[in-house]
Amino acid sequence: MDLQHITDTVFVVAGPVNLGLVKTPGGLVAIDSGLDKQSAKNLLKAANELQDNLIAVINTHAHADHFGGNETLQKRADPRFYAPVGEADVIRRPAWEPQYLWQGAAPLPDMRGKFLLAAPSRVDEVFESGASFTIAERTFQSVALSGHSHYQSGILVDGVLFCADAYLDENITDKHGLPFFVNYLETLQSAKQTKTVNAQWWVPAHGIVTDKPGRAVDYYIHRLQRVFDLITTYIAAERRTLEQVVSLVCQELNLTPRGAGPYALVRTPVSACITAAVEQGLVKPVVEDGYLWFERGN
Ligand SMILES: [Zn+2]
Repeated sequence: MDLQHITDTVFVVAGPVNLGLVKTPGGLVAIDSGLDKQSAKNLLKAANELQDNLIAVINTHAHADHFGGNETLQKRADPRFYAPVGEADVIRRPAWEPQYLWQGAAPLPDMRGKFLLAAPSRVDEVFESGASFTIAERTFQSVALSGHSHYQSGILVDGVLFCADAYLDENITDKHGLPFFVNYLETLQSAKQTKTVNAQWWVPAHGIVTDKPGRAVDYYIHRLQRVFDLITTYIAAERRTLEQVVSLVCQELNLTPRGAGPYALVRTPVSACITAAVEQGLVKPVVEDGYLWFERGN
């Protein structure tokens, strides 16, 4: 367990998903709970090291790797759970995550693993993205960072911005090839916004804590723009189905998703790019012979 002291009152439990711990006069507040039982145990171990109790958990968004530890924390520490409006619904009914990745239908069996389907969790307090709220005399400022998920919220406290998945470190952007997002323009906007927030430290959920996020943010934005341009270029050349575009993107970025779950994590951001291209008039959808085609817009 790697407990990093960022300020006098803000700590990060570093790992595959970075988790926050914030000291308040009433106890510790966690930012996200990680993927599973192990990440929850790491948080409790860190709280123990800091000789304080966990009194609350703020989830930034409803992806299984950010709230999958809630169940264990609920059993062992019973903190109050906070989540942004919209995300709270999925945290309470997490089956929605694999369902929306499978066009709303009952998900395929291999989309029900812990990476896409967490245990349901209580949400005690729901906050609007952009609102500030107080827990045990400490003010937490939420920062609307939608795009990676529809209602993702960053958390600013004591000059530290917990960015959730608004951007990734360069090496993680490279590892994923195509980062996950559901709204192309909002994702670009949110990544840019992280740079303008008045903070001293930036904590991406996947990457390292930094006082200079600019390069990683720009790299991330550049990757998204490259993918968007690829997609509109493919469709401008000839009409394509969504599956064809996904396949072309996989070939170009050397992505090799194995299984329906990893495949859906590529198809969704490709779909989001197509929606943005349709909204901009670059692409239009046409249904013919039982195929949904995307072709050059007028
Ligand atoms: Zn996420």
